[in-house]
Amino acid sequence: MPKIVFVCREGSDEPRVAASPESVKRLTGLGLTVVVESGAGLASGVPDAAFEATGARIAGSGEVGSADIILRVNRPTATEMAAYRPGAVVFAVMDPYGNEAALADMAKAGLTTFAMELMPRITRAQSMDVLSSQANLAGYRAVIDASHEYGRAMPMMMTAAGTVPAAKVFVMGAGVAGLQAIATARRLGAVVSATDVRPAAKEQVASLGAKFIAVEDEEFKAAETAAGYAKPMSEAYQAKQAALVAEHIAKQDIVITTALIPGRPAPKLVSRAMLASMKPGSVAVDLAVERGGNIEGSEKGKVADVEGVAVIGYANVAGRIAASASALYARNLFAFIETMVDKGTKEFAVNPEDELVKATMLTHGGQVVHPNFATAAAAFVVDAPVAAPTATVAPVAAEPARVRKKPAAVNAETGGDAAAEEKL
Ligand code: NAD
Repeated sequence: MPKIVFVCREGSDEPRVAASPESVKRLTGLGLTVVVESGAGLASGVPDAAFEATGARIAGSGEVGSADIILRVNRPTATEMAAYRPGAVVFAVMDPYGNEAALADMAKAGLTTFAMELMPRITRAQSMDVLSSQANLAGYRAVIDASHEYGRAMPMMMTAAGTVPAAKVFVMGAGVAGLQAIATARRLGAVVSATDVRPAAKEQVASLGAKFIAVEDEEFKAAETAAGYAKPMSEAYQAKQAALVAEHIAKQDIVITTALIPGRPAPKLVSRAMLASMKPGSVAVDLAVERGGNIEGSEKGKVADVEGVAVIGYANVAGRIAASASALYARNLFAFIETMVDKGTKEFAVNPEDELVKATMLTHGGQVVHPNFATAAAAFVVDAPVAAPTATVAPVAAEPARVRKKPAAVNAETGGDAAAEEKL
């Protein structure tokens, strides 16, 4: 029997969808039967007929109960997962940190769940890297949103009626989103500068034609983890960097912040005083608003007036460019699922020994199995766990879930081996 893949319609605040007509065609090509919930793609500009045309069957939400594999953008709610059959395999962006109770619920429901955002940043998994695919689009969209709020032109224009100066754009945090923001602002003709605490960012910023602004002391030279992520900086460094940045921000028209440290709240980088020093009509975008924000006074889901600056704090910025975001996310999912389907027999099976599975599998067999969350989630598992059927799990799955005492940092054991700019 071919396995049934069900593509869910997300909640009303999520315009993205976890499949595209292209991914439906490719999943079908793997021997899977694809069922798409009616209306799932509408907010991403994909009508039911477009999914049908590439091999999907359209169905109501009730059919999710017969699915073996469930594709979602966001973690299912308790009500949604009540309709899933125990043993179903769910792929989504699970937002696991701080949500251990929800992970315990998924375990109790007997679901095998995968958090796509925990995909290791290794060469083999580049095509499955949802953080990169979505952050790249968010970085682009941040510049478009800023230009929409900004009452002036971005490029320098020399006209018969006079000259319009180029906008000065400062990007704080030059990871995947920041590098795309730099590239986009440059394409629009702005004069762009950027900062980051990772030394590797300096060259990447320069290669995109932007000026690098940072205190480059010994701490800066040691600020990158083996996985390519930023380390939290000392108070002394932050003070020196803030002084340099304060002087720079006063001369900028647009500031875009993207700074994150995995598993921690976003660092506060822009104070009210810094915003007050900017010219009237200036704009700031806080892409970190959902993780606590880089900008003082930014509000999730709003454009706030803070000290005369329009501070954009839109949530789910990738969802604001939903058609592209869904298409790339669908490709990320397909690339991962493809690794689980045997080319010859076309059987779908999860191999718990695979390093990608080890890094992303949150729950299985009634347990929270991921080492980063198992201990915290255990407090929420009070009922006897539901035993999940192991039909879709390869025999090696018999090995019991191990609970590590010390949770490791996200991706701390994997090495990022390709610059984000290669993906831009
Ligand atoms: P992220 O979303 O965790 O953080 C965004 C940026 O904020 C990072 O560049 C970080 O250094 C920066 N930052 C943190 N604290 C800061 C502070 N106080 N001031 C200024 N900037 C600060 O990062 P990301 O976009 O996911 O990228 C992390 C790294 O991984 C980058 O080196 C990126 O190039 C690399 N990467 C590798 C791969 C791969 O496949 N090998 C894929 C994607 C990204």
